[in-house]
Amino acid sequence: MELQKLVEDFKAYLNRVRMFQEAMAVMSFDSNTIAPKGSVEQLAKRAGFFGLELHNMIVSEQTKGALDGLAPHLSELDDQLQGMYRIVKEHYDEATKLPPEFVSEFAQLTQEANSVWEDARKADSFETFAPYLKRILEMGDKALEYRKSEMPEGGVPYDIFLNDFEKGMTIKKYDDFFEKLKETVVPLLRQVVASKKKIDKSFMSAKVDIDAQRKISQFIAEKIGFDTHRGYIAESAHPFCSGININDTRITTRYYEEDFISSLYSILHECGHAIYDQNVGKDIGETILGHGASMGLHESQSRFYENVIGRSLAFWEYITDELKTFLPEEYKNVTPQMFYEAVNEAQPSLIRVEADESTYSLHVIVRYEIEKLLIAKEITVDELPTIWNQKYHEYLGITPPSNADGVLQDVHWSWGYLGYFPTYALGSAFAAQLLAYIKKEMDVDELIRKGDFATITKWLTEKIHRYGATYTPEVLMNKVFGEGLDATHYAKYLKDKFTALYNL
Ligand SMILES: [Zn+2]
Repeated sequence: MELQKLVEDFKAYLNRVRMFQEAMAVMSFDSNTIAPKGSVEQLAKRAGFFGLELHNMIVSEQTKGALDGLAPHLSELDDQLQGMYRIVKEHYDEATKLPPEFVSEFAQLTQEANSVWEDARKADSFETFAPYLKRILEMGDKALEYRKSEMPEGGVPYDIFLNDFEKGMTIKKYDDFFEKLKETVVPLLRQVVASKKKIDKSFMSAKVDIDAQRKISQFIAEKIGFDTHRGYIAESAHPFCSGININDTRITTRYYEEDFISSLYSILHECGHAIYDQNVGKDIGETILGHGASMGLHESQSRFYENVIGRSLAFWEYITDELKTFLPEEYKNVTPQMFYEAVNEAQPSLIRVEADESTYSLHVIVRYEIEKLLIAKEITVDELPTIWNQKYHEYLGITPPSNADGVLQDVHWSWGYLGYFPTYALGSAFAAQLLAYIKKEMDVDELIRKGDFATITKWLTEKIHRYGATYTPEVLMNKVFGEGLDATHYAKYLKDKFTALYNL
C-alpha cells in the first residue's frame, strides 16, 4: 500500500482511539467529582465496558495491520508520526498480553476500590480497604506474569510497573536517584530540626471563608496562566487534573476553612499540570500526542508552579498584596517574608501532599520502598499499617496517629497505580533542573515579583509543552537541553534554599 494511504488510515484509526479516551476521561472526571454515591455500581460497569471496548480496539487486526504496514517506513515518517507509532506500538504490545476479561475485571475492581477507599479513609478503617488492595495486588501479579517478557535484563517484576509510568526507569535507576537525594536530604533535615530558628505559622490557620477561597483560586489560576475559557475548577476529596483535550482541561481542589494555604497550593499544583496540557501545540492537540510526555515530566510542571514559583520569596512579594485585596482582615499584619517562611517551614509531617519541599522526597521514598516489598511479596497487605508507620518513624521521625493520616492517605493504590509514586520525586528533580536552565536566560525572581508568569510559561511551552507526547522524556530533555535527568540540580536547589532559610 502507498505510504500516504497507510498514514491516512493510521490517523483515522487513531482519531477513534482518541475519542474513546476523551469520553472515558470525562466519565472518570464525573465519577471523581459529582456522580452520586448510589451510581457507583453502574459507574463501575460502564467503566469496565468502555475499558474493554478501547482494549479491543487496540488489540484489533486493524492496529496490527497499521503497525506492520508502517514499520518498514519509520525513517520516512516525521517526528510526530513516529511518536504516534511509538505510543500505539507500546499500547499494542502491552494490551495483547492481557486477556480482555482481565482488563475489564481490573477496570471494575479499581472503580469499586476507589469508592471504598474514599469511605475507608473517612472512617479510618484500613480493614475495609485491605481486601480490595489485596485483589488489586493479586491482579497486579497476574498482569506481571502475562507481561514478564517486558522485564529488562537483570531486572525484577516491579521494573515493568515503573516503566509504565516513566519510560526507561528501573529499580536500579531509582535506587541510584533516591540514594543521591537521601545523601543530601537526610542530613539537611537533621540540621533543620536542630536549628534554633522558629517560624511563626500562627496566622496561617486564620479562618478564611470558603467562598472567598473559591474566588482566590479562580484569580490565582488565571493569573498564573490557566485558561478558564478552556478549563474548569471543580472540587473533590483528592485534588487532580484531568486533561481531556487541549480545549477542555479540568482541575479540582478541596477547601478547608482553617487551612486556606492547602487549597492555594493544590490550585498551583494542578494548574501546573493543566498549563502543560493546555499548551500542547495546536497541530497535535487533538491527536494521541495531545498530552504530557510522561508522568515525571507532567509532575515537573506541577512542581514548578507549586514550588519553584509558589514557594519562592518573589512569589510572596507579589501575591501578598493581591491576597489582601480579597482578605483585608485575615492577613492585615502579615508580610511577604512571614508568608515565605511559613509556607516553607521544614518539618517532618504526616501527609505527603502537604509536605514541605525538604521532606517531600522522604514521603516518596517510603512509598517506593513499600511497593518494592509488596510486589516482591516480602510483606503482606495486613502488615502495611505497621510497616508504613515504622518507615515514617525511620525517615521522618514521626508515627501516624491513625491510618487515615497514614497508609490510607493516597488515592493511587485504589486506582491500581503501582509504580506511580516515584514519578513525583522525578517531577521535583526535573523542576529544579528546569529552574537551573531558565535562570541562565532570564531573571526568574524579577519576573515572578512583577507577576509576569506569562514569560516563564512561554519559555516552558517553547521547551516542553508544545511537543506533547511526541518524544519520550529522555529524548526530549536531550534534544532541548543536551542532557537527561540529573538529580544534582534538585539536591543543590534544596540545600541552597533551606540553608539560607534556616541560616545553617
Ligand atoms: Zn501532580
